[in-house]
Amino acid sequence: MNNKRLESQIKELITDKSNSVIIPHKNPDGDALGSCLALNFFLLNKGLNSIVISPNDYPSFLKWMPGENRILNFDNKSSEAINRIENADLIFTLDFNDLSRSGNICDEIKTAKGQIIMIDHHEKSKKYADFELSQPEMGSTCEMIYNLIEYIDPEAITSDIASCLYTGIMTDTGSFRFPSTSAKTHHIISKLIEKGANNSKIHENIYDNFSYSRLKLLGVALKNIEKIDPLPYVVITLSQIELDDCSFKKGDTEGFVNYGLSIKGIDLSIILIESKEDNIIKMSLRSKGDFSVNVFAEKYFNGGGHHNAAGGVSRETLVKTKKKLISLLKSYN
Ligand code: 5GP
Ligand code: MN
Repeated sequence: MNNKRLESQIKELITDKSNSVIIPHKNPDGDALGSCLALNFFLLNKGLNSIVISPNDYPSFLKWMPGENRILNFDNKSSEAINRIENADLIFTLDFNDLSRSGNICDEIKTAKGQIIMIDHHEKSKKYADFELSQPEMGSTCEMIYNLIEYIDPEAITSDIASCLYTGIMTDTGSFRFPSTSAKTHHIISKLIEKGANNSKIHENIYDNFSYSRLKLLGVALKNIEKIDPLPYVVITLSQIELDDCSFKKGDTEGFVNYGLSIKGIDLSIILIESKEDNIIKMSLRSKGDFSVNVFAEKYFNGGGHHNAAGGVSRETLVKTKKKLISLLKSYN
């Protein structure tokens, strides 16, 4: 179904005075939260009874976002969240296309009676929704939400909505530098600033809001970076002990993997982060050019994402995972 037809169907769905819930992926980032919060403001202003339910907590550098203080965290408010999901007519799932990415909310969504509306920009949807707005060519889900709101009612973009959307577009495009950033993206950004997004303040809130220990941890990560000669690839590791030594908090490692790509000639950077709590190694992969990290992550590490930015998981030790990864990369083409 084409996107305009879907946007028009979504428009019809939300003219009802319905109950809605809006759900981002687990460990939500700026784009996931920004798109959910923006859509939530829009629906509330249209008279719907709406709420954002996050599968779990999110980094403190996102805890200034407009409307953020009203998000229900499924991890510690699960009975209230379950009640809202059970009574929802509309269930929006934003910034993911595989139900398992909703973490512990997954089973609730599966058994809920409401209509599921997926809005997402990842490749290879797992097709769980009643209405699916999927645009992998988009740099962010926030850009999709902007287009949806502009289509339904351009006047409805308030300064809160503009700030949320600006945040998600900025974070998911690496501050407007990834190839998915288009002239249209900049056009939207200009509109959002006109509508009241304080661009300079938002950059400061996101990028100048880290702890001393997070910067120390970055130092450890950079010390651990290793070139996989003769390939133009690097791998970074962080063990649980190293994380503990730097008082690791959720979100502290966000963006570390990108430093690998700042080296001249390097076009693949992978970070492996040990989690003793979940007993996994979480991987983040970033590339420039042709290397499809989502294909690689899906094939070997039960992951996925985008062509140049993906994630995956290993259940082996950090040392074994690194060894396996290097050997796979050396034989991969
Ligand atoms: P990050 O490395 O920042 O966690 O994720 C990069 C991209 O890959 C994001 O778009 C994210 O949604 C996706 N991603 C990260 N981890 C996983 C995973 O385990 N499975 C899948 N399917 N996608 C992932
Ligand atoms: Mn996104």
